[in-house]
Amino acid sequence: MAEPKKPKVESECRKFQTRWESEYFFKEFKGKCVCLICTETVAVMKEYNVRRHYETKHQAYASYTGAEREQKLKQRVAILRGQQQYFFRAQIVQEKAPIAAMRSPNSSQDMASLFQMETS
Ligand SMILES: [Zn+2]
Repeated sequence: MAEPKKPKVESECRKFQTRWESEYFFKEFKGKCVCLICTETVAVMKEYNVRRHYETKHQAYASYTGAEREQKLKQRVAILRGQQQYFFRAQIVQEKAPIAAMRSPNSSQDMASLFQMETS
């Protein structure tokens, strides 16, 4: 029997568990354990840390159960993904167009006068 030695239990503990998603609203993102509710990351990927964060900060989410909880989780994942994409796009725009839209300081005033004309 030349079976390789199993890794220590401790290293197993420091891996993201998919059940944390529905249990604590945490998701692994780029190797980090991210809270889906406040987007904070937990430094050490341990259930204790994840659970403590959830229980101290997001007790309100304990009231979501079953399908409602699933729905909430999906919603938070979608929001987080959307934010990541948004930041990524913003970065590209900044790189490609440095000082473009710094013009027409009166545009908001024009809008206001237009609106006044319509209402009066
Ligand atoms: Zn959080």
